[in-house]
Amino acid sequence: MPANLTLDALRDLVKAGEIDTVLTCAVDMQGRLMGKRFHAQHFVDSGYEETHGCDYLLAVDVDMTTVPGFKASNWARGYGDYVHKPDLSTLRRVPWLPATAMVMVDLLDHHTHEEVPHSPRAILKRQVARAKAMGFDAMMATELEFYIFEESFAELRDEGYRAMTPVVRFNNDYGIMGTAKEEFLMRDVRNGLYGAGIPVENSKGEAEAGQHEINIRYSDALDTADMHSITKNGIKEMADQHDVSVTFMAKYATDRAGSSSHIHQSLWSGGKPAFFDPDAEHGMSQTMRHYLAGLLAHASGVTYFLAPNINSYKRFTVGMFAPTKAVWSTDNRTAGYRVCGAGTRGVRVECRVGGADLNPYLALAAQLAAGLDGIERKLDLEPEMKGDMYADPNARQIPRNLREAVRVLDGSDMLRAAFGDAVIDHYVHAARWEIAEQDRVVMDWELKRGFERL
Ligand code: ADP
Repeated sequence: MPANLTLDALRDLVKAGEIDTVLTCAVDMQGRLMGKRFHAQHFVDSGYEETHGCDYLLAVDVDMTTVPGFKASNWARGYGDYVHKPDLSTLRRVPWLPATAMVMVDLLDHHTHEEVPHSPRAILKRQVARAKAMGFDAMMATELEFYIFEESFAELRDEGYRAMTPVVRFNNDYGIMGTAKEEFLMRDVRNGLYGAGIPVENSKGEAEAGQHEINIRYSDALDTADMHSITKNGIKEMADQHDVSVTFMAKYATDRAGSSSHIHQSLWSGGKPAFFDPDAEHGMSQTMRHYLAGLLAHASGVTYFLAPNINSYKRFTVGMFAPTKAVWSTDNRTAGYRVCGAGTRGVRVECRVGGADLNPYLALAAQLAAGLDGIERKLDLEPEMKGDMYADPNARQIPRNLREAVRVLDGSDMLRAAFGDAVIDHYVHAARWEIAEQDRVVMDWELKRGFERL
């Protein structure tokens, strides 16, 4: 189920007065949609060919601060423009906004018209092309967890994010009665996304008060990343329309479970599942074993792309379903890498390390790069781990904080070869800025501990 509009169909809808607005959406380093709202007539007349936007969109932090020290965008280079080239295969309706359509754009260099190498969409496209050249289609799905609160975004911002009230006040994992309380939003979300050409499978209550999950049918990796960012953006917009708020932070409160984005992945060749061998153990083909071995070999190096914020690492707590160990197991939720659908055509790997705050383009690209490296180097798969991985001292630990994850990212020869040195340096710089900011800023926690008692 690809995006659901063609340029010709859009032209007809504009003529009929059914669409009057087209959003052109780039993806920034945080995975957010950034762009312009076109009058639909201008879009179908000329905007569909290209538009432009400041290159600082790939050199700011979440607060839109112009971070110093990036080589690609800075004051000395004058913060010029990138071309925003609409990818017309992603043209779709936005049913939750009146008379609106949207399109994803690729970011191109103004002079050469080459894709900007550190653009998240370009990074993923490069790994998808690499898989294709090896004879594989990368099929992926990202689950998304989040919290729904009664207060609006504006109310919470104004009062300093201190008094969030979950819509459902109890652990509502799979609860049908509890999720009925969230239907005012979630029904709109499922139907709105479906109408945008995003095949929602289901939504469900999760294991913490106010927590929810949405599942979208797997697709090729680029389509999945596009659907993930549109879904996240759409859920926030629809929450806003209902005067409630949602958060995709990896960990919004110390004593509440974190929100994940598990990544399901499989490779296919000529429409057949390349991960499936009916005669092999768990139905896992040799290709799948090499791929999984690659994911494990590079588990530390890719952690930054699964957990890109300081807050991300606070989700990795023992006994709360977020994994702390990079090992594999079949259908065991304490392992970072779980084999699902064992023995069937749907056999696949689920990486459970990522938080809901990941950038899907970067996360999927890093997973693919690690897995393809495993296939290219024919890496042997280590034995399956069984039992409670949290308690196993021999199980491989993933980096415990952003500082450690960035150090490993910086030294990852595999990622440097796959993404390019300049791209890795760019993201290492972004991460070091986050760490420097945290080192500089005085937090509520410090004040509460120290103000009177130190
Ligand atoms: P879970 O037990 O984790 O809830 P589900 O059956 O709900 O598993 O599937 C989770 C996700 O995996 C869904 O988004 C689904 O579309 C996706 N999925 C199913 N088969 C494959 C596959 N072969 N490759 C990649 N993703 C898949």
